[in-house]
Amino acid sequence: MAKIKKIRKFITINANNCIGCRACELACSAFHARPRYSSCNPKRARIQIVRDPLKDIYLPVYAGEYTAAECAGKNKYIIDGKEYSNCDFCRASCPSRDLFKEPDSGLPLKCDMCEDIPPLKMPKCVEWCPNGALIYEEREEEVEEQQPQLGEVETGIDAMINKYGLEKVLATVAKAAKLQDS
Ligand code: SF4
Ligand code: SF4
Repeated sequence: MAKIKKIRKFITINANNCIGCRACELACSAFHARPRYSSCNPKRARIQIVRDPLKDIYLPVYAGEYTAAECAGKNKYIIDGKEYSNCDFCRASCPSRDLFKEPDSGLPLKCDMCEDIPPLKMPKCVEWCPNGALIYEEREEEVEEQQPQLGEVETGIDAMINKYGLEKVLATVAKAAKLQDS
């Protein structure tokens, strides 16, 4: 398969610098509102802060892939004397919790590192973080050229239809298309 050069985006999380202000959630939700900046709802953000001030826990987590299944077991982690569950670190939109789901439709949200035209200098959450908890980096990497995998797309759509129902998925796609045109 042919190799191509691609810019990969990375955000390193320094949880020690996170003060739990949630500016990242607000910036993300406002940037992704349609029309842009028309609303600000942290439940629509593709980054969420796991926040427990009494235990001094402030952990930014980015929305990753949708998954149709829950984990079979749950572990606990103790890091620097702070106790976390493995759900705290998990980036999935999964059936066992409401995290990373669009609140109106229930459809999964995923971080896009703020794809835009023209490209942003840095993702919005990084730009608005006041304490250097999110560190943005771009790296050029040589990767294999990916052809669209129709089978994978179909599997993803099937899983969403199974979970949310055809009507809801179609209504959300129609709404997104309308907003795109406006
Ligand atoms: S990189 Fe962009 S899309 Fe991802 S969480 Fe940050 S603001 Fe949201
Ligand atoms: S903006 Fe930065 S400091 Fe504030 S909650 Fe988000 S990651 Fe933490």
